[in-house]
Amino acid sequence: MEKILIVDDDINLCTVLKDELTEVGYDADFVNNGDSAFDYLSRKQADLLLLDLKMPGKDGFDVLRELKTKKISVKVIVLTAYADVKSAIDSAKLGATDFISKPYDFDELLITIRKVLQRDT
Ligand SMILES: [Mg+2]
Repeated sequence: MEKILIVDDDINLCTVLKDELTEVGYDADFVNNGDSAFDYLSRKQADLLLLDLKMPGKDGFDVLRELKTKKISVKVIVLTAYADVKSAIDSAKLGATDFISKPYDFDELLITIRKVLQRDT
C-alpha cells in the first residue's frame, strides 16, 4: 500500500483528506508542521508528501529545501491556497512534482496523486 503523508497546519483539512485517501485505499497520515514532517520521515517511510506552502515556522518552501539538503527522496505535491504561477514555478524548482490549489477537488487531486506515484523519479 502506498504511503501518503499530508503536511498541513489546517487540522480539519488533514482529517478530512486522510479519511478520503484511506477510503480509496491509500495508507495516509498527517503532521501539522515542517519539523514534524522531518521527525516523521526519520522514523517512517512515505511515498508521497502532500505539502502545504503556508505554515507557521517552516513553510512549504523550507521543507522542499530541507528535503533536498538532506537528500530525502520522496515525491511531493504542493497543495496550497496560495496558488499562483510564481509559487508553482518556485516549488517546481525546489523539487515539487506537481501542484494543486486549495480548496482542492478530490477527484482532480486523486488523478494527480496517481500520476505522480506512477512516475519513476
Ligand atoms: Mg496552511
